[in-house]
Amino acid sequence: MTAQPTAGGPRPPDGAPSPAETGMFAEVSRFFDRAARYSDADPGLLEQIKQCNSVLQLRFPVYNDDGQIEVIEAYRVQHSHHRTPTKGGLRFSMRVDESEIMALAALMTYKCAIVDVPFGGAKGGIRIPSRSSSGFRERATRRYTSELLNKNFIGPSVDVPAPDYGSGEQEMVWIADTYKALRPGQLNAYGCVTGKPVSLHGIPGRLEATGLGVYYGVRECTDQREDMRALGLERGLKGKRVIVQGLGQVGSCAAHFLEEFGDARIVGLLERDGGTYNEGGLNVASVMAHWRVSGSVKDYPLGTPVATPDEGLELECDILVPAALENAITAENAPRIKAKIIAEAANGPVTADAEAILTERGVFLIPDIYLNAGGVTVSYFEWIKNLSHISFDRMQKRHEQVDRHEILDTIEDLTGRQLGDARRSALTAGHGEIDYVYSALDDTMTVAYRQIHEVWKSKGMEDLRTAALYFAISRVAAAYESQGIFP
Ligand code: NAD
Repeated sequence: MTAQPTAGGPRPPDGAPSPAETGMFAEVSRFFDRAARYSDADPGLLEQIKQCNSVLQLRFPVYNDDGQIEVIEAYRVQHSHHRTPTKGGLRFSMRVDESEIMALAALMTYKCAIVDVPFGGAKGGIRIPSRSSSGFRERATRRYTSELLNKNFIGPSVDVPAPDYGSGEQEMVWIADTYKALRPGQLNAYGCVTGKPVSLHGIPGRLEATGLGVYYGVRECTDQREDMRALGLERGLKGKRVIVQGLGQVGSCAAHFLEEFGDARIVGLLERDGGTYNEGGLNVASVMAHWRVSGSVKDYPLGTPVATPDEGLELECDILVPAALENAITAENAPRIKAKIIAEAANGPVTADAEAILTERGVFLIPDIYLNAGGVTVSYFEWIKNLSHISFDRMQKRHEQVDRHEILDTIEDLTGRQLGDARRSALTAGHGEIDYVYSALDDTMTVAYRQIHEVWKSKGMEDLRTAALYFAISRVAAAYESQGIFP
């Protein structure tokens, strides 16, 4: 019923291209080859870094809502074991195929290396509609988890899934619960998956982490005076016109933080069936509330309807944030994109051909392998929390409060002036776990942007994606070189 894991995926019939040579993995390989030209690592090592280590293809039966048996196709790909466990999201979509999951696993390796998170890259996909019934999803998710467990493809020290397109906290809970049931007595069982709700060993801030990371990344990008000048833009995010495509976990949070923390002007919000546009600015919360009630963004009363999401990508703006799926911008629509900055919140939203056209036209791309790394960064914090069995604020909060009271008492003694109760309690409140998560994510995204930007400028590379990939390849190569190749 299930295929065995194979290195590089099943062999196609003679003459036919393999999944590694087609589709999205071929796209990622083109980007890889461009960056690898700058590396002085051994060519054999570069080939090892580029390819997927283990590709698990599964077929398993699930009862559908009519009580019929459906055969489900699913994948788990571990791209690199230079660090373990491997880590990467789980996608629910009818578009899932082997090449896509291989590509997304490879992107995870590079992403983790860029933000210095000690995981190898992985990805999973279950080929079911992203909007199937809850019962069907639960049966498919639990069966998928048991299949992974049978093949030793899941575990806190083996491979740790997380949410991705079409999945969220609920699916992560089903995975954790199935794992725990089939591996009773494991102390660290909840570390087998991240993106769990806070009520079940999750971490505050994970839900919004990828979108928040997108905001930090765009903020860093627009803070570079020289780069903005080259684009004919003012430094800073304030007032910049933004269009966001895809209002799921990543897109809705990115739009919210760009508006709330960045003071950007959100002029367009796009979903599957169309969008809404207002040059004067939209209120993100109000559009989201309208969408939840009416089921469509298009008829939002304070915006102009946008007939299709593709049309919306071509509207006037400074920053375009594709946050839905890959291949949103291709060679076909790239010449008509008006944005000066494309912030890749989704994985692979711009094809290699489209990127060539956009770069030629002077459009600046913030690459996915950097920009959407906020999710895996906070997943890393959640995993650490699951292994340490303690929240990040618990040991220091009270101590911090006592320290602050003592400092304020001293200041009051020295100045002879008294702070009011409200001011004192604000100053001595101490930090909650969410404060640590947000500040550590901010620091991670800021440091990583400066590092890849420095590589880009100092090596005179063609674009930021090449610099980011080169940076990632160098880190992975260094790990292999220091640990050696097992004979
Ligand atoms: P999601 O399922 O929560 O949301 C995706 C949204 O995009 C949905 O609302 C869907 O209706 C919409 N959509 C689909 N096709 C569209 C189209 N053509 N035009 C406009 N909207 C469309 O998924 P997500 O978790 O937000 O993931 C989005 C992207 O971000 C994916 O590429 C994913 O791989 C990537 N990503 C997600 C995370 C994470 O933490 N969830 C982390 C890193 C990267």
